[in-house]
Amino acid sequence: MKLVLLDRDGVINVDRSKSVRSREEFMFLPGVIPAIKLLNEASIPIAIVTNQAVVGRGELSVEELEDIHTYLKELLAIQGAFVDKIYVCTSTDSTHTHRKPNPGLLLEALDYFKVKPQEAVLIGDALRDLQAASAIQCPRILVRTGKGQITLKDGLPNSVLPVLIFNDLYEAVSHLLDEEIC
Ligand SMILES: [Mg+2]
Repeated sequence: MKLVLLDRDGVINVDRSKSVRSREEFMFLPGVIPAIKLLNEASIPIAIVTNQAVVGRGELSVEELEDIHTYLKELLAIQGAFVDKIYVCTSTDSTHTHRKPNPGLLLEALDYFKVKPQEAVLIGDALRDLQAASAIQCPRILVRTGKGQITLKDGLPNSVLPVLIFNDLYEAVSHLLDEEIC
């Protein structure tokens, strides 16, 4: 495994129905910082790939979004952890190449790190995360945090299978580092 692609809301931080709009609304989910540290220690790069249509709708500015990401990085740094890159799609247009379930954001990250889709893994909580990964034959994991339980209850279409399922990011990362699934 040469790259971990992480969805943000519901995987890294607590998802909010109206999106995270300030530092105060950004809260790491339990076990996320230790999970990121495990990847850092294993020298596996991490790229966040996140849809933020809240920006495209004009409800959050690019500067405000960047400030939230600065805060995310600051909180990680305090614990000696880091993410390598953050890729954002602000479009509200479902046909936009970079808006998941389309794979553009993932492809951009793979290209930057010079990693093949089959050598990476995507971890997400929503069907569109899994669809973006399966579109490019990238291995994928669903976590039960965020929308994960609802995603499971709705049923995973055959088109996105196989999908590994874990309770949260820490469990998923522990498994990846134990098993070297890809
Ligand atoms: Mg999500």
